Amino acid sequence: MKRLIEQLKEDHDLCDGALADLIESNEPDDALFAAADAVRRAQYGTDVYLRGLIEFTNVCKNNCYYCGIRRDNTKEMRYRLTPEEILESCESGYRMGFRTFVLQGGEDPHCTDDFICTLVNTIKTQFPDCAVTLSIGEKPRSSYQAYFDAGADRYLLRHETASEAHYRKLHPPELSLTNRKRCLYDLKEVGFQVGAGFMVGSPGQTTRELIADLRFLQQLQPDMIGIGPFIPHHNTPFLHEKAGTLKLTLRMLAILRLMFPYVLLPATTALGTISPIGRELGLKAGANVMMPNLTPRRVRQYYDLYDNKICMDEEAAKCRACQEGRVRGAGYRIVCDRGDVCRSIKSE
Ligand code: SAM
Repeated sequence: MKRLIEQLKEDHDLCDGALADLIESNEPDDALFAAADAVRRAQYGTDVYLRGLIEFTNVCKNNCYYCGIRRDNTKEMRYRLTPEEILESCESGYRMGFRTFVLQGGEDPHCTDDFICTLVNTIKTQFPDCAVTLSIGEKPRSSYQAYFDAGADRYLLRHETASEAHYRKLHPPELSLTNRKRCLYDLKEVGFQVGAGFMVGSPGQTTRELIADLRFLQQLQPDMIGIGPFIPHHNTPFLHEKAGTLKLTLRMLAILRLMFPYVLLPATTALGTISPIGRELGLKAGANVMMPNLTPRRVRQYYDLYDNKICMDEEAAKCRACQEGRVRGAGYRIVCDRGDVCRSIKSE
């Protein structure tokens, strides 16, 4: 295994068979994590970038089988923040040192392009030293262009799975992998810093699907890669499915760091949900981004993509302080910075 890790660290690539050996290995992960950490330190030092997450709507026209805010979950209380509430969240985030705001939501038909563009423009005018990331799903290229022209810097759109057959198991027929990929390439061409990614342990996922994900990411070369464990939600068709494991998620984080030394890689809330020290372990396995929640407490509980999501009832300031302690405890430091991608690969 040591030889494979060295080779991956050196070449940022392995053949499918060797990747499968690494993903399925029975050996302890210490050497893999140490290699990923060394690469992360060479590239980004001990810096951890913060993204203030504002979950501004949980209304969604889509019906993804895994997601708690899917259209057919009629038990969900639906909400949509006003522009004033979103700006208030940005203001308090700015005071706490956030220099990136991530506006995430379901695919809410009420949030028109005009609404998004005005919002982005207002945030960028009020906080010119901040980056704005959008994560609002699949749109026509013209909409992406309008958001970019309004000042949005980055866009997160997990591809979810790069396998056609697996995509069909996770989504209803009206959604397609072809369109999801089209969106990602459009976003890149428009000029966004782009984030793709997938859930680890989603129903039907095997090593083969994970390798397909890695190959797709090699083609796309995104700036950010968001991965976290799949966790079932009680009001979805996947309620009885097993959650993804901590072990495999950490292993995939480390493999991603070795394959994409430059990439921005979050230690996600889902990772913190399956283990109380999941995010710290994620940082030690190569992650360099954290996304504390700035969503007003009043509605936070309704953005429940999966069961038992953490940080549902904490003041944003408390969330921020908690993450500061976690990052420091793991041996890294939070920096008050936009945290843009650093594409040129640095060696140790
Ligand atoms: N609507 C936007 C989109 O489609 O990209 C953003 C919101 S969507 C809810 C954000 C991400 O949540 C998805 O890309 C998916 O990977 C993740 N997610 C949804 N349900 C999940 C679950 N049950 N477990 C873990 N992650 C989940």
